[in-house]
Amino acid sequence: MNIGKEQFFLTGIQNCEGEKLIFVQLCAVLSTTRCISLRRGILIDYVEPQYVVVTDVMTYYILCFTWAGVLFLDELPEYQRQTLEALRQPLEDGFVNVTRISGQARYQSRCMLVASMNPCPCGNHGSKSKPCRCKPNEIKRYLARISGPLLDRIDIQVEMDAVELEDIRGKQEQEDTVTVQKRVVAARNLQLERYRDESFFCNAQMPQEGIETYCAMEAGARAMLHSAMEKFHISMRTYSRICKVARTVADLSGHAIIQPQDIAEAIHLRNLDGRYWR
Ligand SMILES: [Zn+2]
Repeated sequence: MNIGKEQFFLTGIQNCEGEKLIFVQLCAVLSTTRCISLRRGILIDYVEPQYVVVTDVMTYYILCFTWAGVLFLDELPEYQRQTLEALRQPLEDGFVNVTRISGQARYQSRCMLVASMNPCPCGNHGSKSKPCRCKPNEIKRYLARISGPLLDRIDIQVEMDAVELEDIRGKQEQEDTVTVQKRVVAARNLQLERYRDESFFCNAQMPQEGIETYCAMEAGARAMLHSAMEKFHISMRTYSRICKVARTVADLSGHAIIQPQDIAEAIHLRNLDGRYWR
């Protein structure tokens, strides 16, 4: 299995610093994992959205290019709907199918999609400290640029408030990046070992049929997940994705069997679609 082609493909609106910030953070956390290695060299490409939005073929090219790497889309709603929708199938099965008159081609396109966006055009909707200036229908139109099926395919969805100056100065002790990195590398190595005889190498890539085998959970955890399914009307696709995220949470916590707290965290990590999109 070739897992040596690590690429970061960063896009965002012009003069936006977000993608650079995310890149630095991702490199710090992921640099020594076997799948993403700075030492083997990462090609950093930056593409302005006016080029990215041209055709779905460009989207496909980017997806193939970032195979086994990270694709970061800053200001997600700024992309054309057609471009975003072209991500759906590759995110689901890890392949890009290109059909032209001259024939068909199928390429591997497995990557980690990371995206960021504001909750409304002015960026303050839901903020505890700043007032939102947008009308309800403007917010609705803005959020509607991200379709339900695309949202469904994003495993972890986290809401973040603006960082205040006093928080940057550090009011409380937080884990440093090196400590987090060690945990990530250990969990990643655990997965490489667990899936050594499989055609995939990490939890996110686990096919549907692998869930029963690899996502064993305690009775309490299963009951919690089933209850959440009924309460939040969770689809089968979302159910599978929660199981895989819970597997990762359990790996990070050193749990061989998924515990109720692992399921609770996995559900919490994707509550954004419930708050803003329903
Ligand atoms: Zn607003």
